[in-house]
Amino acid sequence: MKQYQLFLIDLDGTIYRGKDTIESGVNFVKRLQEKQLDYIFLTNNTTRTPQMVVDKLAGHGVKTDIQHIYTPCMATSSYILSEKKTAKVYIIGQIGLWNELLSHPEISFDDQNPDYVVVGMDTDLTYHKIRTAVRHIRNGAKFIGTNSDLNLPSGDELLPGNGSVCKMIEVASGQKPLFIGKPSNIIVDKLLERSPYSKQDCLIVGDNYLTDIHAGFNSGVDSLLTLTGVNKREDISGKRQPSYVVDNLDEFEL
Ligand SMILES: [Mg+2]
Repeated sequence: MKQYQLFLIDLDGTIYRGKDTIESGVNFVKRLQEKQLDYIFLTNNTTRTPQMVVDKLAGHGVKTDIQHIYTPCMATSSYILSEKKTAKVYIIGQIGLWNELLSHPEISFDDQNPDYVVVGMDTDLTYHKIRTAVRHIRNGAKFIGTNSDLNLPSGDELLPGNGSVCKMIEVASGQKPLFIGKPSNIIVDKLLERSPYSKQDCLIVGDNYLTDIHAGFNSGVDSLLTLTGVNKREDISGKRQPSYVVDNLDEFEL
């Protein structure tokens, strides 16, 4: 088997399932750490700050630090700053998104005449916020969606995700968003821009065929599907196959 240098690891369904720990996922990270192989937790979650992700992982027995966390929030600021030296943004989102975007002095919040409308998961979403976003997009602001997840699994429930909210804004504004998070190649490309590794060195690891594995397809990175989360083996029969499929990550030799 090919020896990978950098593992891009999903969280929900891979390391934990809500409050439950997925032991094979936690062991996988420990095995990487023992072998001194590099890894980044690549999540589509935009509500948490990197430190909040680190703290959540600690609760599941994973010791790591913020250098090993990469979110669509970080890829979004990187994307915006690759387009503009300074940018005014209208933000719909939670602390993870606000903190990251406004940590850059070149990016400022503007609800009058923004260059970008950035939409991430916001459980305090209001009609007013949607209306403001639509007005700015209709006036020419670029529409960015942090991630396109239509649903978020929560216990037995499938909650409306950011992709569903973006659909509403898309329909009302007549503009499609540019999505940054998985399955977009943008999040992987932005991460690799600041890393010493090339795509051939990387393996993207996750439980979701449509987000994790497609992020691999879209960015040209090999992929490993673990069947510990949303997908079962039959879900991918007849479809383009990941590089590897395992029942759980204990099966994957390093
Ligand atoms: Mg997942």
